[in-house]
Amino acid sequence: MDCIFCKIIAGEIPSKKVYEDEDCLAFYDVAPQAPVHVLVVPKEHIENMNGVNADNFRVFAKMPLILRAVAYELGIAEKGYRIINNCGADGGQTVNHLHFHLLGGTALPPGLV
Ligand code: 5GP
Ligand code: ZN
Repeated sequence: MDCIFCKIIAGEIPSKKVYEDEDCLAFYDVAPQAPVHVLVVPKEHIENMNGVNADNFRVFAKMPLILRAVAYELGIAEKGYRIINNCGADGGQTVNHLHFHLLGGTALPPGLV
């Protein structure tokens, strides 16, 4: 499958990993939008939020815990951080493999868009 994140998970494209387990991977975004910008992805290819279902929910449910653990690991948890998911074309999704952005390391502007 022609999916950048599946290739990162398979090790075919290099990435700077910050966390890995049997279900999920976290790695630094190649074009950071904040001093800390990490992506958390399921190893299974799920297109986006619309692809979450009863079969993959166990893995999906781990993702917030991993995002928080990475925030602590990288020292941004206490001061705060932002978690973003872009879903589909109108949501601004550019890589069609489910991922959450973890942004922090600075005071982000209030607001959603
Ligand atoms: P989206 O716009 O789909 O929510 O986010 C996709 C993110 O993937 C973007 O922030 C983009 O910088 C990041 N990205 C795209 N290609 C690569 C890559 O090859 N490696 C890494 N580490 N990040 C990537
Ligand atoms: Zn994929």
